[in-house]
Order: sequence, then C-alpha cells, then structure tokens
Amino acid sequence: MAIKVKAVRGMRDLLPQKKAVFRFVEDQVRSIVSQYGYLEVGLPVIESTQLFSRLVGEGTDIVEKEMYTFADRNGDSLTLRPEGTAGLVRLANENGLIFNQVQRFWYAGPMFRYERPQKGRYRQFDQIGVECLGMDGPDIDAEILLMSARIWEALGIEDNVTLELNSLGDVSSRQRYQVALIGYLNDYRSELDEDSLRRLSSNPLRILDSKVPDTQRLLAGAPELPEFLDEDSRQHFGRLCEILDQAGLQYRINPRIVRGLDYYNRTVFEWVTDTLGSQGTVCGGGRYDGLVEQLGGKPASSVGFAMGLDRLVLMVEESRPKAGSVDIYMVSVGNQERTKALVLAERIRRELGLITLVHAGSGRLKAQMKKADMSGARAALIIGEQELACDQVTVRLLRVEGSQERVKEEQLVDYLRGIFDRE
Ligand code: ATP
Ligand code: MG
Repeated sequence: MAIKVKAVRGMRDLLPQKKAVFRFVEDQVRSIVSQYGYLEVGLPVIESTQLFSRLVGEGTDIVEKEMYTFADRNGDSLTLRPEGTAGLVRLANENGLIFNQVQRFWYAGPMFRYERPQKGRYRQFDQIGVECLGMDGPDIDAEILLMSARIWEALGIEDNVTLELNSLGDVSSRQRYQVALIGYLNDYRSELDEDSLRRLSSNPLRILDSKVPDTQRLLAGAPELPEFLDEDSRQHFGRLCEILDQAGLQYRINPRIVRGLDYYNRTVFEWVTDTLGSQGTVCGGGRYDGLVEQLGGKPASSVGFAMGLDRLVLMVEESRPKAGSVDIYMVSVGNQERTKALVLAERIRRELGLITLVHAGSGRLKAQMKKADMSGARAALIIGEQELACDQVTVRLLRVEGSQERVKEEQLVDYLRGIFDRE
C-alpha cells in the first residue's frame, strides 16, 4: 500500500517561480555585499545546544520555546540553528580569525524556529546575515546600515522600508533601565497580558515589543531607555546619527526597539515595512560587543544584522521576471534529426548562452510546434528531413507573424546572435 507523506508543518516547498525570486534576492545581496569587501563563510546547520541557550539567552523567545533541539545517537544535545550570529562568532573564534585582526563576513542559509506558521513566518526560513568583528566605532555601524539601504535599492523596495534605530547602552545602563521598567510595570501587574507578565521576571525589556494594545497603552507612561544611557554609548549613538545624516540616510529613533536576543548592546536597529502585516520586520541587527569574549576569545567589539529572505521575497515577487523563460525551442522529426537538434542546442548554449529547450521524445511536427509556442520561446528551430539533407535549419520567430527562414548550419550562430542581440 502506498504511504502518504506530506511536508512537515512550517517547512515549505519552494516551487520554481518562488525559488527564482529567492535566487534573484540572493544574487542582489551577494553582489552588493561583495562591493563592500565582505567575505562569505559557510556555517553548520547544527550546533551544540549550549551555544544558543547561553549566548542568545535563556529568557529569549528563541531559547524558551522556538528551538529544534534533539539528542543525537551519542546523547549529545544538538540544535538546528535558529540564527547565525552565535555560530559565526564561534566559527571566527575557533579558527583564530579575529586574533589581532578585523573581519567583515556574511553568510546565507536556512534557520529553524518552532513558531506558528503564517504568511512571512515559517519554521524553516532563510536569512542572509553580515557580521563585522573587531570594530567598535559608529562608522562600521553606519557602513552596514548604508549597505543595507543599497540592498533595498537593488531590490527595488527602498520606498517601502524604513529604518528604526535605538541604543541600548552598555550592560549597566541596560540593567538600570530594567530595574526602572520593572518598578513601573509592577504597579500594573493585573493589567498586563500573560506573556508580558511572564517576561517581567524572565526578560522585561522584551515587554516593549509586545503587540498587545493594552500593554502598549501601559507602556506609553513607562520610563524610556534613552534616559538611562551611559555617556560613552550616548556619544557613540550621537556620532552614528551624525554620519547617517551626512550620508543622507533617513531613520527614525525608536526607543522601544530592544531586539529579542541577550547579546545586543548599544546600537540596535530594524528595517520595517507596513506591506507585510504583522510580520513587518525584514531585517534586524545591532552591536554585540561582549559575545566574542563570552566564547572565550579576546574582547572584540562587533556589529551585524540578519535579513529575512522569505519576507523580502514576498515584497519583491510582484515585480520579478518569472522562472522558466525560454529563448529557443528545438523541434525535430526522426532519429537523425533529433541527434542533430541536440548537437546544435549544445553549440547555441555554449556560444550564445541562450536558454534552449530540446523537445524530448517523439511527436508529430504539429504537436511539437504547439509545445514550442507554449514554452514562451521566441524562436523555434526546426530540423526535418529536408533540412538534414542540406545542412540547414528552419528558424521560425514565434512572436512575429509568418516569419520563417532557412539558415545554413554554419551561419546559424551568427544569425541567432543578430536576432537575440536586437532585444
Ligand atoms: P519577529 O519579531 O518577526 O519574530 P525576530 O526578532 O524574531 O522577528 P530576528 O531574530 O531578528 O527576528 O531575525 C532577523 C529576521 O529574520 C527578521 O527580521 C525576519 O525578517 C526574519 N525572520 C525571523 N523569524 C522568521 C520566521 N519564523 N519566518 C520567516 N522569517 C523570519
Ligand atoms: Mg521571532
């Protein structure tokens, strides 16, 4: 009996049209980050559970309820990576890449989080991240922000995203703020939603992120983070804003942006859109100056961001070219003719780089011509008995009424170049 096995909830199949848009987005990002001299690294999909539970933080959404954690056959606790930064810092540290040097890295690939699947939120999703290791100035913060803006331009979505910026200050200013926030919210415990009440003891800053309207109303009167900033962080943030102003990059300072993960300090930011409903953050990042040291390395101030490809794809897919476009469709009747078609198609692809489909299997000429038309190809190349006998090919332009010509085989490549160059 046949068994029916379906894809696991939240793990999507990407069909060719969708995948083509992913590829487009990836190609644009790759080309822009290369211009800034960022180097790609490959990260394992599986890491020790500890890496995330310790570095991302026990009280975070990710560690609390979103990780895919399992014991392997050895009994070691492993986790499918929910994010890339912790793994990248481990990679850099373990391979001695930040010893007395700075690095600009990027990575791409799938991440895994056990969340409620919905539009723009999946259990396997793709991120591209950049991480700059060993640099502490606001100039590098500015660089990655300017670079992300260039990426939105390349994707044609620059008018639909805005940059929200904040500073968390150093560990002690964050702690002072946390105390003040808990003090304020404690007086309203009975009015807090369930999640926020839980976070009051586990991760109070995250309450600022709450999407519950009543909680948001309460927060309107809460103390604000910027008042608690230490002097160095204040200067760092001021300088960053100055650079962005001079570079002409617009932003909005949003004191509510805290980011979900424990390792952030000082600069934090999100690129948001209102075109995707409540899944509105397409890119988030910030500084994580203590992370390298936490992994046993020499202190190395660092900053980075991760963008969610799935959400970017939703934003750009309307305007993208469709997958499966075909330039030429090869039609042939008879065995020898079919061999000739295969050989010529090889030449066309090699010399002209055109997308060439060869009709597979047999079939009458008329049926093949119908397939050629349906493929969307601009030209059908027909090889029949007569053509074979005199080393010729019939070229029919499918989008031009009654346009057909016999071409000598040795002139075929030049002839096609003439046609396709006119595009
Ligand atoms: P959210 O608040 O939407 O859950 P997050 O703060 O958990 O986002 P980050 O950990 O900052 O997200 O990840 C960076 C980016 O990765 C997000 O801005 C988003 O674009 C994308 N992302 C995060 N989780 C998912 C998911 N489950 N499905 C699709 N994309 C995601
Ligand atoms: Mg999340």
